[in-house]
Amino acid sequence: MLNSALFRSIFALLLLSLLSGCGSSDDNTSTGAANLVDNKTYRWKMVTTWPPGFPVLQEGAERFAKNVNAMSNGRLDIKVYAGGELIPPLQTFDAVSQGTVEMGHGSAYYWAGKVPEAQFFSTVPFGMTARGMNAWLYHGGGLELWREIYKPFHVVPFPLGNTGVQMGGWFNKEINSLDDLKGLKMRIPGLGGKVFAKAGGNPVLLAGSEVYTSLERNMIDATEWIGPFHDQRLGLYRAADHYYYPGWHEPGTVLELTINERAWLSLPADLQAIISNAAQAENLLMFSEMEQKNLSALHELQQRDNIQIHRFPDDVLKKLNSLTNETLREEAEKDPKFKRVFEAYQAFRHQNDEWSAISENAYLAIEKQ
Ligand code: CA
Repeated sequence: MLNSALFRSIFALLLLSLLSGCGSSDDNTSTGAANLVDNKTYRWKMVTTWPPGFPVLQEGAERFAKNVNAMSNGRLDIKVYAGGELIPPLQTFDAVSQGTVEMGHGSAYYWAGKVPEAQFFSTVPFGMTARGMNAWLYHGGGLELWREIYKPFHVVPFPLGNTGVQMGGWFNKEINSLDDLKGLKMRIPGLGGKVFAKAGGNPVLLAGSEVYTSLERNMIDATEWIGPFHDQRLGLYRAADHYYYPGWHEPGTVLELTINERAWLSLPADLQAIISNAAQAENLLMFSEMEQKNLSALHELQQRDNIQIHRFPDDVLKKLNSLTNETLREEAEKDPKFKRVFEAYQAFRHQNDEWSAISENAYLAIEKQ
């Protein structure tokens, strides 16, 4: 048996070798193990998909960077660039993947052309809300699956923000039946757009900067954007009279932090822990800020006499839901990777629906005074 003095000196030597980074396993790019600590200053760049100064989303990405800087005592200094300041917004994923920049902030459905199954990690029509998405990602195997999906691109993802349930959008006429959607020109991107097309609508692809003018000049009949806060800020209440809910097409869009894998593995363990924890904190902050700003903006919109706020009729939602299932099944048949993520998502989602039915939904359904 070792005597305690000998044990202490062996332990001290071992610790020293770890601290100085001269242990035998410091090739952390192949093992994934990070150095325990170092005194290097890392200067990183983060690019985002948001316009400069975009409230909540760009601001949240900047707050995250500031917090990482403060917690690391300046050892990890992240400079944040809005969309277009360094690279075009939709090249964020590629820039992180190629290591042109170390970090990105956006949402996984922007890369649907390259990684179709990534859409399940942002949002899909009639999918889970923020509560279910967080449960799936953090504790239900979702994040592990997401990391596996991004691995071939050398990108490590983290959830970082959520828009909450979005609004259904602004329409220049009332929607009383599915027939009212027929031939309607609406700005509605992604899988929501595919479902809308199946319903007879005409989805139009428009950049955020063109949305207001197109609706105001009747080049489109309808548009979705985000929620009351951002919609009000864009002035959409001046361009259409009918504001519909709920946002069946985006029930809780997850925003993502992406990190170049090599850059991530080059960090010592404490800086990795700081990033993980700051990302979790910002995930909550951005979501709760969005909720607060939306409830306040909704109140302001309700005071405007020129707009009417309606719920989509039940049969319209029911039909859109069944067209969504059809769309997702079709996509899954075309693509085994999409199918795999779809099945994992659906399995969790069904259980989440059962639980929600007797917890949050049941509670919220009580008429309160
Ligand atoms: Ca939207």
